[in-house]
Amino acid sequence: MTKTYPGDPVELPLRQDAAPRPRAGCKTCSEIGIRRKNRRSAHDHSGVSDANVDLRRHQIAGCPS
Ligand SMILES: [Zn+2]
Repeated sequence: MTKTYPGDPVELPLRQDAAPRPRAGCKTCSEIGIRRKNRRSAHDHSGVSDANVDLRRHQIAGCPS
């Protein structure tokens, strides 16, 4: 008969770790990256999240880099 045991806890990645990175040489990535940095230094978490969405959308839509 097979015995089962509880496994180790599963560690899920924090969503912040999945923040998209601006790609080198792309003007739009750079602009969004700067905006995100400014929002972050202003402790505007909603603005940081908006910038992440914009950056992700831009990269999916076809970042030239
Ligand atoms: Zn880009």
